Amino acid sequence: MPRSIFTYAMSAKTRGTTATTISINEFIDFLPPAAEEVECDNTSERVFELPLPSDDLSVRVFSTIEGENSRGYGQDAIRTVIWSETADGPIGGETKTLRIDTWRKNLMSKLEAAYANWRAYNHGTCPECGEGVLCERSGKYGDFLACSTWEGGAGCKYTKNL
Ligand SMILES: [Zn+2]
Repeated sequence: MPRSIFTYAMSAKTRGTTATTISINEFIDFLPPAAEEVECDNTSERVFELPLPSDDLSVRVFSTIEGENSRGYGQDAIRTVIWSETADGPIGGETKTLRIDTWRKNLMSKLEAAYANWRAYNHGTCPECGEGVLCERSGKYGDFLACSTWEGGAGCKYTKNL
């Protein structure tokens, strides 16, 4: 079983590990050279994209950095997702990395896992409308796939249980 965010939160608390501030230069130094900064709606944090061998998919890293430095501790964690250009959003595989001393090692293992496993999140084009792509979602009855054009029920309503 993978160590969860809660494991890190607990160990940070019990060992007295303090949160660390990450500067944009430190973050860019950490990222693989193929990473590119991208514009991303609905967030004020700086977002980076790593290519995957896919026309549609990439790994996006939400840095928690606004401007030059990371936000105050406790607001959130560094997130990675498998991102679809077609969906203009994440299709699954979200991870969170706390900004503690070991963030580089922890985030690198998340990126390595994304590169090893991204195909598992690639559920292809929606069979109903043929336009959207299938995205992993969580609901009260468990995980399911939904069409990326759903948009609050205004678009395609195709779903399938996982
Ligand atoms: Zn659809």
